[in-house]
Amino acid sequence: MTVADVLNDASAQLHVDLETIIDNYNTLNAQSNAACAAVVKADAYGLGMEKIAPALFHHTECNTFFVANLVEAVKLRSILKGAKIYVFNGLFEDHVDIYLKQNITPILNDPNQIQLWNNKNQPCGIHFDTGINRLGFSDKQTEEFFNSKHNLNIDLVLSHFIQSEIPNHPSNEIQLDQFMRVRYQLPNAKASLCNSAGIYLGEDYHFDLLRPGIMLYGGNPGLPKRPVGITQAFEIKAKILQIRELEVGMSVGYNSLWTAPEKSRIAILNVGYADGTLKTSDRNSFVYIDGHIAKVVGKTSMDMIAIDITDAKFDKVTVNNFVEILGSNITLEMVAENSTLGHYELMTGIGRRYNKIYNLRA
Ligand SMILES: *Cc1c(COP(=O)(O)O)cnc(C)c1O
Repeated sequence: MTVADVLNDASAQLHVDLETIIDNYNTLNAQSNAACAAVVKADAYGLGMEKIAPALFHHTECNTFFVANLVEAVKLRSILKGAKIYVFNGLFEDHVDIYLKQNITPILNDPNQIQLWNNKNQPCGIHFDTGINRLGFSDKQTEEFFNSKHNLNIDLVLSHFIQSEIPNHPSNEIQLDQFMRVRYQLPNAKASLCNSAGIYLGEDYHFDLLRPGIMLYGGNPGLPKRPVGITQAFEIKAKILQIRELEVGMSVGYNSLWTAPEKSRIAILNVGYADGTLKTSDRNSFVYIDGHIAKVVGKTSMDMIAIDITDAKFDKVTVNNFVEILGSNITLEMVAENSTLGHYELMTGIGRRYNKIYNLRA
């Protein structure tokens, strides 16, 4: 094995199925006549923007990307020269030149940012708040904006939902009404309201451009059920480092949180707190190995967990075997159910030291 091989082999594996992400994009895009962008902030929700954004750009109709900040935008620009890139978090004075030079489009969130971009001639988006009170122009600032003179090339107006994953919630319609009023005053700009869950509120909400993030990757924003055609696009696999035989009464891990109730066989896996997604394994969590579900026992360590493989169905399990931590058998839904975490936190909490493996059929 070469040093380069070792560098790629140092840890557990994160498999990302680019083909599934492409299929998920096409499913979302097919819900509407609007164009569909891709939100790839937070390193594409933990899965790797550098591989995912080009896959979408080259293999789907997607040519518009949203990121959170300028760092992400500059990285994305270096790999996708031809894409339209918007930055959600707004414009800061020190950054104006970089936006202009790199052809990155800021989304302006308050009147000061309007001043910074005035007379620049390059496009911008404007975020109007419709109730979430996070980013964007307040009602008062919106009114002042429409009563003032400015010289801006606005190509996108957007707003963001409070709880689009709850289809019957009255706030969705209230936000829609408010967004339509603003949107009407900037008829030449494209309008964008829908995150992933918003897309499933129906055509009245779609406008010109959809902005899904989590569902591209197969996560569920909190809808009662994952919609048809949206599939979890990733899998985490750990390796068995060692197998131990325990006598009755021996304990496993820090603070002896688990004690063998019988003669037991325990496998030690190479993922822990530092790899994320496992913050819940002190409680009730499971892995999948050799066709069966095994239970995590004892407290999670920085770099390891232990599983109970005492049952005879695990007799063939040996050192170096791979174990599914998250995937088609241990789904995000199952992990979320056993924890207080939602899919957003589980995905963005995926650690950075996985050996990332991407597949795309030729
Ligand atoms: C993160 C984000 C999105 C994407 O949201 P998902 O729920 O992941 O689809 C869309 N718009 C804005 C403003 C965001 O911050």
